[in-house]
Amino acid sequence: MNFSKLPLTQAMLANLDAIGYKQMTPIQSEALPAILEGRDVMAEAKTGSGKTAAFGIGLLHNLDVKKFRVQSLVLCPTRELADQVAKELRRLARFQHNIKILMLTGGESFGKQLGSLSHQAHIIVGTPGRVLKHLNKESLDLSNLNTFVLDEADRMLDMGFIEEIESVLSFVPKERQTLLFSATYDEEVKEVAHKLLHEPVVVQTTTDE
Ligand code: ADP
Ligand code: MG
Repeated sequence: MNFSKLPLTQAMLANLDAIGYKQMTPIQSEALPAILEGRDVMAEAKTGSGKTAAFGIGLLHNLDVKKFRVQSLVLCPTRELADQVAKELRRLARFQHNIKILMLTGGESFGKQLGSLSHQAHIIVGTPGRVLKHLNKESLDLSNLNTFVLDEADRMLDMGFIEEIESVLSFVPKERQTLLFSATYDEEVKEVAHKLLHEPVVVQTTTDE
């Protein structure tokens, strides 16, 4: 399926074409229609299947660039994965010049992050511990969040991040879109999806590929 079948702006479609994304990957064509309808989505697909663009196109769709508030948060298990997600989001948002995407991960200067946060950001990509630290110190305000993404959910649960994730969620509006992406879909992931997502659309592509 082609991206032009989706209710995306001409600018987004032109950019996808420019970065060489001609056809949707299976997980994108399964998940994006529901994501763009504003539904909560739990998506399982193996590594390398294009999950980042699936939620990235979704959160960019919900974004109002004129509003200088954090509107999307993507939580990742590690700094390296957060860095990859931030890079892909920047590629997807190339056509929007004034968009600000900020990384908040451990192993980086907290003070520097404080400085960046004082100038606001539209999208935060981070690891649970560091994001929670900013929330507790009130240097990060998520009261305007509309999209919450858990990337590599299975890995985050393996790494014992569930309590931090739940604490982060206590700072996030109840009225929001929640997207959960995972390479596997076991009982533990299912349980968390049930707890954090509201009437989710469940999309699995692993078995058909
Ligand atoms: P995952 O998170 O599922 O492991 P990624 O989001 O990192 O996968 O994507 C894997 C690769 O596929 C990246 O290099 C990305 O740029 C590329 N990609 C994603 N969607 C498309 C698409 N529709 N067409 C072509 N390449 C794509
Ligand atoms: Mg990924």
